[in-house]
Amino acid sequence: MPTVVVLGSGTSNGVPMLGHTYPDGYLDDPRNHRMRAAICVLGPSGNLLVDCPPELRLQMTRENILDVEAVLITHTHADHVMGMDDLRSICMRDNRDIPVYTLPRYQADIRRIYPYAFQEFSPGIFVPRFDLRDVPEPLEVGGMTITSFLVEHGPFPVIGIRINDFAYITDVSFIPPAAWEKLHGLETLMIDAVRYRPHPNHFHLERAVEVSQELGARRTILTHLSHDYDHGPTEANLPDGVELAYDGMRFGV
Ligand SMILES: [Zn+2]
Repeated sequence: MPTVVVLGSGTSNGVPMLGHTYPDGYLDDPRNHRMRAAICVLGPSGNLLVDCPPELRLQMTRENILDVEAVLITHTHADHVMGMDDLRSICMRDNRDIPVYTLPRYQADIRRIYPYAFQEFSPGIFVPRFDLRDVPEPLEVGGMTITSFLVEHGPFPVIGIRINDFAYITDVSFIPPAAWEKLHGLETLMIDAVRYRPHPNHFHLERAVEVSQELGARRTILTHLSHDYDHGPTEANLPDGVELAYDGMRFGV
């Protein structure tokens, strides 16, 4: 059974957020420390990394995850791609390019952000090597079959994935009918719920819970969380079957 490891459960700022102070006790709960959003799915024969936050090296070493067979980039906002350079050490160790699956327009962004990853250098100079690929349907990684679909994050398309009866939808403000079709019969839905108040480019708490109930997911794990949420008190008031993600959380899918 594949295992999902939550590398980061935080919104784009992370929590605690730079330049802010927090009420006494808030930061005593380790679950209120949220790195930027990503998961790694540990499969029977390899791992799929979904997004590369700025803290990627810290997240992967914290979880003792040593290998990445392939990467899927949901979209190219900074909180999802600015850790891609950290993959360099795996490219160096294994002397291979890392397959990176994403939309063509996001492949262009990655080439622009990391031009050196696609240039030739003299021997002894090591750079990350990304093998950019369109997302096949289905995608096979690590002995897992991954189906994908597109959701809307304001004006930006974002790739959502499904593995068995688990779906991961980070950064979403609208789920189009074609994506909805792929979300029937879910056991576990992990979905964006950035904050309490409505947000133009994200689901807020109430909307995320509504969507999850419409889909009939048995278990809902809310992610991409801002500092609005104090983990313990918030979770105590959530409906049955709805939880907040936290960094380091693991579950089977
Ligand atoms: Zn994000």
